[in-house]
Amino acid sequence: MLVDIVPVGSVSPEAKRAASAALRSVYDCEVSINDVQSVPGGAYDSGRNQYCAESFIQLAERVGRGEKNIAITPHDLFYRRRNYVFGLAYLDGSGSVVSTYRLGTSSDGGFSNKSAADIFEDRVRKEIVHEVGHTYGLEHCDNQRCVMNFSPTVREVDIKEENLCGSCRELIE
Ligand SMILES: [Zn+2]
Ligand SMILES: [Zn+2]
Repeated sequence: MLVDIVPVGSVSPEAKRAASAALRSVYDCEVSINDVQSVPGGAYDSGRNQYCAESFIQLAERVGRGEKNIAITPHDLFYRRRNYVFGLAYLDGSGSVVSTYRLGTSSDGGFSNKSAADIFEDRVRKEIVHEVGHTYGLEHCDNQRCVMNFSPTVREVDIKEENLCGSCRELIE
């Protein structure tokens, strides 16, 4: 299994490295990093000043070289009527996307002993593992510590861990 990471726009080396390391540690997969892509035409919504998450998924599916292809972007994403999303994937699909735009914001998640850079990287790792989990067929999990827990705010992202709980792990093996 190869997971290809598709950077769209200016993604930091730290974010790419965090994404790659997390995927290798949680899934039994190889990871590659694709060439930097520009934002897909038509993705920008000037009324919302945000980008359509689905366009990034389509781009990842088109240019990706893996069985799974995940776009990572610094741009702020929206999906339908939700104000923003950290990421998006279709269940059992091949493509997905994560935005780092809102992952650097502070929260009271209890990580006062960690640097802002470490907190950001932890969140990138969790969101990448989460979206790829959906493409493996995993749905949201009620376990707050499980990476598949639905986490619409960074506080919830900080509470969960980057690993699959035992039940989710069983589902993909
Ligand atoms: Zn989800
Ligand atoms: Zn779980």
